Amino acid sequence: MNAALPIPVEAASPHVMNTYGRLPLALSHGQGCRVWDVNGKAYLDALGGIAVNTLGHNHPKLVPALQEQISRLIHTSNYYHIPLQEALAAKLVELSGMSNVFFCSTGLEANEAALKLARKFGHDKGIERPEVVVYDKAFHGRSIATLSATGNAKVQAGFGPLVEGFIRVPLNDVQALKKATAGNPNVVAVFLEAIQGEGGVNPVNVDYLRALRKLCDEQDWLLMIDEVQCGMGRTGKWFAHQWAGILPDVMPLAKGLGSGVPIGAVVAGPKAAKIFAPGNHGSTFGGNPLAMRAGVETIRIMEEEGLLGNAVKVGDHLKAALQRELGGQPGLKEIRGRGLMLGVELTVPCSELVGRAAEKGLLISVTADSVIRMVPSLVMTTAEADEVVSILVPLVQQLIKEKA
Ligand SMILES: *Cc1c(COP(=O)(O)O)cnc(C)c1O
Repeated sequence: MNAALPIPVEAASPHVMNTYGRLPLALSHGQGCRVWDVNGKAYLDALGGIAVNTLGHNHPKLVPALQEQISRLIHTSNYYHIPLQEALAAKLVELSGMSNVFFCSTGLEANEAALKLARKFGHDKGIERPEVVVYDKAFHGRSIATLSATGNAKVQAGFGPLVEGFIRVPLNDVQALKKATAGNPNVVAVFLEAIQGEGGVNPVNVDYLRALRKLCDEQDWLLMIDEVQCGMGRTGKWFAHQWAGILPDVMPLAKGLGSGVPIGAVVAGPKAAKIFAPGNHGSTFGGNPLAMRAGVETIRIMEEEGLLGNAVKVGDHLKAALQRELGGQPGLKEIRGRGLMLGVELTVPCSELVGRAAEKGLLISVTADSVIRMVPSLVMTTAEADEVVSILVPLVQQLIKEKA
C-alpha cells in the first residue's frame, strides 16, 4: 500500500477543534495489528482504535464486502425497511438471547436510547420522576445525559447543570446499592458496564451481576448493561455479562460492532422491547446499509475465524506474560481484565507511557491516570502479544524507576 494520500497529511491540526491531547503522529494505513504513519514508521497497534477495529486493519474479507456495499447503497432512510437491519438485529438477538434491536451510530447514542427506555419504562407505570442507578468511575459518553451518568468529575466539569435522576453507588457492593435505593419508589433501572473501560478496566464481579439480576427482578427495575467497550467478543464471550450467565434487559453496543464503521445498537429483552413506539425515538444515520453491512460481516468473519477463542488465547497469553515480567515489580498495583481487554495499574500516574511507547513503535492508551489499557483487534497473534510485552515492560520499569 502506498503511503501517499490524495490529500495532504500532517501530524498537526490547527483547524480541528482541540478536544484531544494528540500524539505528534498521523497514521496512513494498516494491515492486521500493524499500522504505518505518514513517514513510513511501523507501529504495533494494541489499542485497536479504542476497542473498535475488531478485525484489525484492511481485513481481506471485510474490505471487499464494504466496497461491494458502498457501490450498492450507503444510506437510505428509516422511512423504508432496510433488510440488512433485520439481518443484523436477528444475529444480535441470536447471540444475546434478547429480543429486539434499535440502531444508531455511536456509543453515547446507544446509551441515550437506553436512558430514554428507562425513563419511559417508569412513566408507563406511573413514575413521574424516574431515577437510574449509576456507578463510581463509570463512563457512558459525552452527551449531556450520558456525561451526567458518567462517574468522572473531569468529564462533567464545565457542563452543568447536569441531568437529574441518577443515584450513584460504588461498584461490586450490594449493600451500598440496597441502602442507596431503600424505600425509593422512583428507581427504574440499574445501569453499568460489565467491565468499566475508561474508568480503568474495572471488572464487575459475576456474583454482583447475579445479585443485580435478582434485585432488578424483585423490584421490577431494568438491568441495563453498557457493553459498548467490553462487548462484541473482546472478553471471549459475545458479551462480557455472559460470563455471569445472566441476561440484561437493555444492552447498548457500539465500538467493535462494525470494525471501524460508525455504528451503535441497543439490544432489548422482553421487558424493554416494546417501550418505544413510532415517534418516540429515531436516528437519521442509525441502521444505514453501510453500517449494517459492516456489522453483519464483522460478526460473520468473527465466527468464521474463531475470534472469540483467539481473544481468550491471546489475552490469557498477554496477561500471563505481563504478570511474569512485571509481577514482583514495585510500582505495579494490579494486572486485570479479561480476554483482550487488559489493564495494568501502576501506583504512579503514567500517561507519559503513551508517547514513549509510540516512539518505540507500540500504540496503547493510559486511562484513569495510572492504568495502561490494551484493547487490540481480536486478530492479534501470540507473537504480536509477545512483542507488546517486549516493548512495554522496559518502558514500565524505566518509568517506575524515575518516579520511585
Ligand atoms: C466509548 C464508550 C462510550 C461512548 O461511545 P462513543 O461512541 O464515544 O459515544 C460509552 N460507553 C462505554 C462503556 C464506552 O467505552
